Amino acid sequence: MSQRRRLAISRPVTGACGKTGSWRVFSPLIDREKCNACGLCAMYCPEAAISEDLAIDYDFCKGCGICANECPKKAVSMEREDK
Ligand code: SF4
Ligand code: SF4
Repeated sequence: MSQRRRLAISRPVTGACGKTGSWRVFSPLIDREKCNACGLCAMYCPEAAISEDLAIDYDFCKGCGICANECPKKAVSMEREDK
């Protein structure tokens, strides 16, 4: 995959508030069949928990759902976790 260019909208830092994955109630899941790899989910994630290759780091994903909300292809679903 070619390198995506990011706009300077925000500069989140992974782990600035510790392992925010412990806050999570809902987990984002990316449907690769629907995804067009635009990278908007990674750009908007406030925890920088989505990598360039769209892998989600669940140690830091806090389950806010912003990625699902911003995805233009509706490729991200939020699934309730069993705890
Ligand atoms: S739900 Fe999505 S936007 Fe929110 S922290 Fe997790 S990966 Fe980032
Ligand atoms: S915003 Fe949606 S379509 Fe774009 S890379 Fe993320 S999951 Fe894929």
